[in-house]
Amino acid sequence: MDLSLTDEQKVFQRVAREFLDEHVVPFRAAWDRAEQVDTALVPKLAELGFMGLTIPEEYGGIGGDYVTYCLGMEELGRADSSVRGIVSVSMGLVGKSILGYGSEEQKQHWLRRIATGESLGCFGLTESDTGSDAGSLATRAVRDGDDYVIDGEKMFITNGTRADLCLVFARTGGPGPRGISAFLVPTDAPGLQRREIKGKLGLRGQATAELFFEGVRVPASARLGDEGQGFTIAMASLDKGRLSCAAGCVGIIQGCLETAREYAVQRHQFGRPLASFQLVQDMIADISVDADAARMLTWRTADLLERGEDFGVAASKAKLFASEAAVRAANLAVQVLGGYGYVDDYPAQKYLRDARVMTLYEGTSQIQKLLIGRAETGVSAFL
Ligand SMILES: Cc1cc2nc3c(=O)[nH]c(=O)nc-3n(C[C@H](O)[C@H](O)[C@H](O)COP(=O)(O)OP(=O)(O)OC[C@H]3O[C@@H](n4cnc5c(N)ncnc54)[C@H](O)[C@@H]3O)c2cc1C
Repeated sequence: MDLSLTDEQKVFQRVAREFLDEHVVPFRAAWDRAEQVDTALVPKLAELGFMGLTIPEEYGGIGGDYVTYCLGMEELGRADSSVRGIVSVSMGLVGKSILGYGSEEQKQHWLRRIATGESLGCFGLTESDTGSDAGSLATRAVRDGDDYVIDGEKMFITNGTRADLCLVFARTGGPGPRGISAFLVPTDAPGLQRREIKGKLGLRGQATAELFFEGVRVPASARLGDEGQGFTIAMASLDKGRLSCAAGCVGIIQGCLETAREYAVQRHQFGRPLASFQLVQDMIADISVDADAARMLTWRTADLLERGEDFGVAASKAKLFASEAAVRAANLAVQVLGGYGYVDDYPAQKYLRDARVMTLYEGTSQIQKLLIGRAETGVSAFL
């Protein structure tokens, strides 16, 4: 599908695909088995501008627009969702939060490092007892003179064991979302321990970790935004994060389409290519329609963002549709490939395992529906 991309956007898309086809696609199955993406990839991604895609040039990024961002995330999702997650969390959730709410000093120090790939960021919101209900998180940051002292734990943190910086959300006030503040915490701070969570269904190349904070002391200048502004910062980042997630899912669906189509054309049964059977075409047609529909919802969100209009509900719709469609598409791709779809010589099974988490993180499908339902009815299902 070609929605009148500019020449620059087309060049970026082509260069990104060529790069990922050379540096990621041939290695993704091995990284998946080893449960680790080659860390040497990050500086290479940074050279191409991925680590600072929508970060302004003055802070080391390439200042790309949001459609370019979607193109980048789509190509990453098609190549390897583990790699997309590494980029999206560091540059998107962490980098963009610093860009939006950071002091000039924080931008010069952390944002520049993140945008150039010198440092990797992680986003510490979820805890073992609070996922969808993030506003009830329990990690505390207590003011002590010119410092804050942080105690608590964080669960399922992408890049957790590899990041140099953690954007930590902690309670500085009373219960509920208004009592939460955000902090930029170097991961080598004394009292911060990290444990990698192994054995994930998908996104196996990406480090997901549990973080433990015991008396972690940071200066007051490490606070991002005002006291009590943490939840607003988290939700603003997740709105944009949903765009990345949706675009990554478009990439998964596109990858499934290409995999299923190529296989159906070359594989013969009953003396004919699989592609000649109507029931096989039915599956490929479903994937193809989902690819276009998910891409349109995603680009619509990017366009709203670019024009400075409200994009939150559009992002929820794009994320909801694209993530559910990615699971459907990957499931169908496995079906088209038959037994070969079940082994990792072909990417279909990896697409399925990676797609599965997309309906869970950055707001589950149920949470997206509640956000869309609230916008439609004016009635909130949240307390
Ligand atoms: C691989 C991976 C990477 C992740 N990376 C990060 C990260 O970098 N940073 C971070 O902070 N978090 C991260 N997460 C956490 C993720 O965002 C949470 O898992 C997610 O928000 C869901 O929270 P939960 O797992 O606690 O599920 P719960 O909130 O316990 O939900 C369980 C089920 O109940 C449903 N449910 C909950 N509340 C409602 C409701 N009000 N109405 C209807 N249904 C409801 C949910 O939809 C879901 O089906 C990651 C998770 C995974 C698996």
